[in-house]
Amino acid sequence: MLVCLDPGHGGSDLGAISNGIYEKDITLKLAQKVKDNLTRKYVVDVLLTREKDEDVSLKDRADMANKAKANFFLSLHVNAGKGEGYEDYIYNSLSVTSKTAALREIVHSVLANFYAGYRCMDRGMKKANYYVLRETDMSAVLCENLFVDSAYDEKLLKDEAFIENLSRAYVEAIAMALNLSKKSSTLYAVQVGAYSSIIYASRVANDLKAKGYDAVIKEIPNL
Ligand SMILES: [Zn+2]
Repeated sequence: MLVCLDPGHGGSDLGAISNGIYEKDITLKLAQKVKDNLTRKYVVDVLLTREKDEDVSLKDRADMANKAKANFFLSLHVNAGKGEGYEDYIYNSLSVTSKTAALREIVHSVLANFYAGYRCMDRGMKKANYYVLRETDMSAVLCENLFVDSAYDEKLLKDEAFIENLSRAYVEAIAMALNLSKKSSTLYAVQVGAYSSIIYASRVANDLKAKGYDAVIKEIPNL
């Protein structure tokens, strides 16, 4: 499974700007965090259409995803124009597949829920004739994350912890939409004792339970 993440704008294309914050910086930071968190937790490959602050044309972005045969294309943007809140887009053509519509619904519901926790407005599921939605061969969704020029949204966009949490919401949305499997993780058990008497072992386990630990007794060979 290959996900292509597209941090909007970059290089000489600053995107939306307000009070010293640039859309191109937020989208890159967010995309990198989504990539890191997603690949750490799930069995998936992630391709970024840009890894740094550079010019990449819309054509190159779509070509990159098509050439790599990505399964899903997610374009990350920040809005401007004195509105507030979150919205996302799929291609506004009859050729848009029901699969794309279904994937977008999942992404939208996870993100709208996340944003509701910050009292940000849900501006809805929209359609548009955007280049990267039209020219990509796979299901593609474009997300507009808050407004750089609204005081309330701007405060969140400047907050590192918010961007980190937002990236985790995208990880959850992508994993759910694409039904990704979790990477198996190693667990480390802490043993507090080994006793030859079941009575003594039970007493220790009960003491631990009384202290709030989830203690279990296991028989192990006495080598
Ligand atoms: Zn943009």
